[in-house]
Amino acid sequence: MKRIGVLTSGGDAPGMNAAIRAVVRKAIYHDMEVFGIYNGYQGLMEGKIEQLNVGSVGDIIQRGGTMLYSARSEEFKTDEGQNKGIEQLKKFGIEGLIVIGGDGSFQGAAKLTAKGFPCIGIPGTIDNDIAGTDYTIGFDTALNTIIEAVDKIRDTATSHERTYVIEVMGRDAGDLALWAGLANGAESVIIPEKHEPFENVVDRLKRGSERGKKHSIIILAEGVGNGFDYGKKIESATSFETRVTVLGHIQRGGRPTGADRVLASRLGGKAVDLLLEGQGGRMVGIQKNELVHHDIIEALKQKHSLDMSIYQLMSEISI
Ligand code: ATP
Repeated sequence: MKRIGVLTSGGDAPGMNAAIRAVVRKAIYHDMEVFGIYNGYQGLMEGKIEQLNVGSVGDIIQRGGTMLYSARSEEFKTDEGQNKGIEQLKKFGIEGLIVIGGDGSFQGAAKLTAKGFPCIGIPGTIDNDIAGTDYTIGFDTALNTIIEAVDKIRDTATSHERTYVIEVMGRDAGDLALWAGLANGAESVIIPEKHEPFENVVDRLKRGSERGKKHSIIILAEGVGNGFDYGKKIESATSFETRVTVLGHIQRGGRPTGADRVLASRLGGKAVDLLLEGQGGRMVGIQKNELVHHDIIEALKQKHSLDMSIYQLMSEISI
């Protein structure tokens, strides 16, 4: 394979730039040419494609977002859209494509592979909701952003003796909420994967208050529901002064952490290796600290599983 393409698609995630950089430089190291495709699959169909060199990916490893920009495209979900994309790839002489994104983006990569165009998926999303990898690029940075924000909220929660409900991202996955709950010493985490009876949450708040606790933090995953509704429920059940913070898009931005930069670089390098071996329709990931790869379609059929031992530990130590 002499010429490959790379694109980012779906929601952006910190560390995507580090992955692009690794893909470009590793491919050049192996004497391949690399083309950047801007604005995801939308840009692919429109031919927004440009050759990248070693310098094109300089000074980006430390930046959040994606230098290739991202987009969502309904048209690409259709046969015609995918054919348009393949036409563009052929026009530029591109023989293999690396797609950095979430599960929707992987669906697109699987479709192109089924049409005879080899693609490799790199999991990039803060949600950590992709099966076949223990971590996705961006999860660690988003987690650290939440931790820092909750530490700050805890200061004001203590000063005013308030209960805080903090809604965090994660789509249908509770990973960000659970990990932040443990790392921030929250009283309760409310996640889609485990039903926590409301009475337990209330009991824990009351017990904390009885032993003189000055603040309480509840972390709620967006996949469970609205933080404001949950806050109202708590206030009416306890009469504790309750405030709600929805952390929102600050969780998607910022400088990637060391863990994300290293993960992104390793996965980027691995994706190039697979294309060099003539593989397609694979996703790369990390499991038990080993680089792995799986059939994309098989991985999409699996559900990402949350490590429930962390939930158990949380319930044992948030007494
Ligand atoms: P995130 O999890 O961060 O939202 P994502 O990759 O899951 O990322 P989506 O919006 O679901 O984000 O998908 C990104 C793009 O991938 C879509 O806009 C579309 O162009 C393409 N895509 C999604 N599903 C399919 C599909 N079934 N077939 C072809 N292309 C698809």
